[in-house]
Amino acid sequence: RNKMIKTDILIIGAGPTGLFTVFEAGLLKLKCHLIDALPQPGGQCSELYPKKPIYDIPAYPEILAGDLTEKLLEQCKQFEPGFTLGERAETLEKQEDGTFIVTTNKGTKHHAPVVAIAGGLGSFEPRKPLIHNIADYEDKGVEYMIKEPEMYRGKNVVIAGGGDSALDWSIFLSDIADRVTLVHRRNEFRGHLDSVEKVQELKNLGKVNLITPAEITAINGDGRVETVEVTKKGEEPYLLETDHFIPLFGLSPKLGPIGDWGLEIEKNAIKVNNSLDYQTNIPGVFAIGDVNTYPGKLKLILCGFHEATLMCQAAYQIINPGKRYVLKYTTVAGVDGFDGTRK
Ligand code: FAD
Repeated sequence: RNKMIKTDILIIGAGPTGLFTVFEAGLLKLKCHLIDALPQPGGQCSELYPKKPIYDIPAYPEILAGDLTEKLLEQCKQFEPGFTLGERAETLEKQEDGTFIVTTNKGTKHHAPVVAIAGGLGSFEPRKPLIHNIADYEDKGVEYMIKEPEMYRGKNVVIAGGGDSALDWSIFLSDIADRVTLVHRRNEFRGHLDSVEKVQELKNLGKVNLITPAEITAINGDGRVETVEVTKKGEEPYLLETDHFIPLFGLSPKLGPIGDWGLEIEKNAIKVNNSLDYQTNIPGVFAIGDVNTYPGKLKLILCGFHEATLMCQAAYQIINPGKRYVLKYTTVAGVDGFDGTRK
């Protein structure tokens, strides 16, 4: 766990901007490692609107946000980026030699000469239910996100929530877990109709235990979750044995720890030098994509791509001081007498 991960550019945020940075850095032979608080890459595109079409990506008249994420991953795969997913970058420490160490909330350490903050609206933090001792059971049976479904094989699982993730995971885990109970404080669900119908079907088949309108009001157990207290409207609370309690009440983005790194912040965004390279007030730390601000800033995916491209040129100079870099096109093969450089 305390192993040091080393890379050239450490990217905080695996949204579209972070993923495209890997590609641009790869063209310059720079290696990247990405940290994201979410268990999957794609940032807002995969977390907030994977099925929504986007119309302003050059050369794609229309592309679903989820498909754009897939394409970005495919494009940067050749440069073999590393990922630390499901962990939030917590601290940034400048070393004497000018390099940086970034540590996550789970203690994973990363070392790099350049840090690119592509943190978007901030890290997506789970909304937690108001249960007084819930923090004591985090990672001891309480999880707010599902990172590894296999961990629930043969287990008793209680999921709480009424949106798509609560429904989708109840459906998915009904094949893996020994028992799945879905608890929601209303009788109506907010998710897609077909997911609601599927859960009803699984309930009728005895594969999902559905309890509504109800809430989990307490957690008990010696060191790990053993039982949860279910309170059904108008009824006496009772205890339900379980190995896991997974509240899926949605995620909300917060600039979070990045706000304490000594960076110049304006209106919840990081100020950068946009006439040059999107560097922040800390040399070697860049901010690109939705997370930054400068005169005329637009929070659009294609602007993040542009900023990533310029930022990588500056990163190259920091990592290879004094070495001249000549811009080449990615496709030059077969062009007679043309070496790819702009004359
Ligand atoms: P994000 O996508 O926000 O990704 C940032 C990532 O950083 C997140 O995954 C977050 O978890 C992570 N992160 C932040 N802080 C930390 C930390 N401390 N530790 C670890 N991880 C961290 N744009 C368009 O161009 N066209 C559109 O049609 C369009 N439609 C949109 C529709 C909706 C509903 C929404 C919400 C946005 C839309 N946008 C659109 C905006 C677009 O999604 C954003 O501009 C884009 O996602 C920004 O990318 P990013 O990589 O900079 O940040």
